[in-house]
This record gives sequence, C-alpha cells and structure tokens, in this order.
Amino acid sequence: MSNKRGGSALGPLIVLLLLGALGYAGYKTLNSPMFETDKPVIAMATERYWNSHHPFDVNISDDSGLKEVTAYLSNGKERVRIADVTFKKPPKSYTLKVKYPKIGFVNSSDNLLLTVIARDISKWHFFKGNSAVKRMRIRVDSQKPDLFSLITSYGITRGGSAIAIFKATDKNLKELYIETNFGKRFEPTPFYKEGYYIVLLAWPIDQKRFSAKVVAVDAAGNKSRARLSFFLKARSYRTSYLQAKDRFINGKIADLAEDEPEKTRDLSPTEKLKFINETYRTENDALIQKVTARVDHNRVDSFNMHPFYPLKNGKVVGSFGDHRYYWYKEKENVISESYHLGIDLASIRQDNIYASNPGVVVFADYNGIYGNNLIIYHGLGLYTVYGHCSTLLKKRGDLVRAGEVVAKTGATGLALGDHLHFSTMVHGIFVRPAEWMDSRWIKANITDVIENAKKMIDK
Ligand SMILES: [Zn+2]
Repeated sequence: MSNKRGGSALGPLIVLLLLGALGYAGYKTLNSPMFETDKPVIAMATERYWNSHHPFDVNISDDSGLKEVTAYLSNGKERVRIADVTFKKPPKSYTLKVKYPKIGFVNSSDNLLLTVIARDISKWHFFKGNSAVKRMRIRVDSQKPDLFSLITSYGITRGGSAIAIFKATDKNLKELYIETNFGKRFEPTPFYKEGYYIVLLAWPIDQKRFSAKVVAVDAAGNKSRARLSFFLKARSYRTSYLQAKDRFINGKIADLAEDEPEKTRDLSPTEKLKFINETYRTENDALIQKVTARVDHNRVDSFNMHPFYPLKNGKVVGSFGDHRYYWYKEKENVISESYHLGIDLASIRQDNIYASNPGVVVFADYNGIYGNNLIIYHGLGLYTVYGHCSTLLKKRGDLVRAGEVVAKTGATGLALGDHLHFSTMVHGIFVRPAEWMDSRWIKANITDVIENAKKMIDK
C-alpha cells in the first residue's frame, strides 16, 4: 500500500498524517469481508456418465455469498446456456440442477462439456467479485442394460436352493445383483462366456414367499430388471416338543453358560436354557452366516457337485427346519423354542467325517452351541458346516479334496450324544441339506441346467 505519488503543496506533516489515515482505511477496507478473495466453490467432478433423462445437481457455495451463476452445455458444435441466475439475496450455497436442454441442440453427441461459472459478492477485482469456473466432461448414455434370463432350475422349495443363468450386457455396466422379496441381494458369478452370469439362490425357511429379479445398473444410472421365474413349492416343516430334563439343564446348558459368564451369572437354570438355546444360538448362527455370505467372482464353466454324504453309515436323527419347543416338568410349560437349521447324523463315536466335494476351509474353531465347528467353501456361494466335532483335522485356509476325512464326530457344544450336525449354506442362508445330499436333485436342478445353458449359449 505504499504511495509515493501523494506529494502536494501541503506541509510534510499533514501529508504524512493524511497518507497514514488513507493507508489505514484502505487496509481496513481490503481486509473486510467485502473484499475477501476466496473464490466460490463449485463441487463437481471433472467427468461423469449421464443418462440425460434425470437431472443431476451441482452444489456451489461461497462464504461471503453468491452473486451470480451461469452454466453452459456444449456438444462440440453448439453451446446452450442452461442457467443464468443473478441473486437479489446472495445465498451462501446454491444447487444448480443440470437438465438436458429441450431446445438448442440440433446435433446430438454422446460427449458434452458442462461449464459452470460462479461469482461472489466480494468487492474485489474492481467490484466484479471473485469468480470460479469449472468444467466437466459428460458421456451421455441413455441405453438401458440388456437383460435376458436364459434358464433357471424348474422350481424352488421353501427352505431350498435353485440356480439361474442369465445374460447382462451394457457398455458401462456398474452393478449387477439379484433382488428378492425378502431384502437379500445375491451376487452373480461370471459364467462360461462373456456377458453370461450364474447365481445360486436360496428361499429362506422363514419366508412365506419367494421372488427374484436380476437388476443391472450402468454408470449413467440406467437400470434394467428381469424376473427369474420358478415354480414355487411350498413345504411345511415339523414341530417337535422336547422335554428339558434336569440332567440336560444342569449338564450341557450349565457348561455352555460358562462361555458367557457375565450374561448368564444371574439367570435361573431354565433361563440359562433359554439364553443358550435362543440368544447364544443366534450369535453362533450369525457367525456361520457371516462366514458363508462371501461369494467369489471368478468365472465358472461348471459346478459338478457330488451328493454330500459326510458319514459313511450315518442315520438321520434330526431334521432340517424342525421347530423345537422345550418344555420343563409339564408339557404346558414351554421354556424355549428354536429352529434346527441342519440335519443330525449319527453312527459310531468319533466317526470319520468326509468332505464329499473339494473346497477350502473357511472356519475351523469353537463356535458355541455348534462346539468344534468346521466350514468348507465349495464355490458359487455354497458352503457345508460340520458341528459338534470331537476333532478338527483341518485348519482355516486348508484345501480339501473330495473324499478326504476332515474331522471326527463328537458331542461338543449343545449335543447330548455323539453325532454330526450338518448344515448347507447358500450365500449365508441355511438351506435344506436333503437337496445337496440327493444326486437326482443335483442333476435335475444344477448340473443339467448348467449343461443346457452351455448348449444354448453355443448354438
Ligand atoms: Zn443338529
């Protein structure tokens, strides 16, 4: 702010005083908010995809207040002004809605350039204010993804599994998933040839209805849906009433309550049973569901599962989906209930447990009511779960060959006698093991569907 051009006929002292006063005033003025030098902030990326149907927002802000906002869209040949706003009351922020111009463009182009200019109310730059300019390259894509359901398993049973193979294509495919009526999203896996996908589905036992749609979304926000049709087979599951004997409550239940001393210390023996059978079971199930929810995305060409038969001479002693009520002393006195989400197989003590199909061990540890628990991943989101083991012969990360002994049966966790609790999981959902233990079911619902899909694709 030095000023050497202030010399005049006035005395040197007056000149100095005057200069000092002017300089101070100027300094004060330039440091006031009226002369702030911060540019408005235009919050937008340098490029994006746009379907051109839905307007998108650009937020513009300035601490001192906005004076005007102008915006242009250019297609390389023509330029159209899409916004020209002068504010009477300067706002600190403004949302610009970018719409495709109804009139203006004669030539169409997939490439647009958006220019946004904003000016604030500062008196800086000879009262013009600070201005900011920002540009964004826009790739226009109004084409919805192409979806086509190729083939599905003929039906799906409540509590059971099914498969679907479909085609999804788009220049800029961003999201692809299967949406269901019960809120679960299934992730598909690339299948056989470019553009094809396969997905294993499950109808959770606690859902009365089942419906599934493929959803594809591209980078510009264009969305397509395609229904996957199945013949729906209702199925009811058994209900059992089991007596909770003192031997059980004071034995297994009391032992398991020691796993959670803080939560069970003040509970009565029957309350402990309810805690272990319900709260603790839910935690143990949640761990299994979490571990088995992951799906790999490597392309698959086939999925040839042998029927699972984990025990050589196992007798089924407990069924999947059984709604079990526990009563104490009198049948009317029900103290707890739960669903049995696997089957129980029994043979001799510490019998060999075989892996019927190859896979990778994803869990090998103690897991509450399931005791020593082994979980194997077989691909496509299919997992098998082995509970109550006396010994685990594999550890997490181990590869398993078909026919290998992976553990020994036992009575760890909530088990009275030596047996195997066997569960099958699809994308984190407990499904009927009976299907995956049945070679005819596997052939009709999985293997043949995949082979037919390949023939259709190759045709
Ligand atoms: Zn069981």
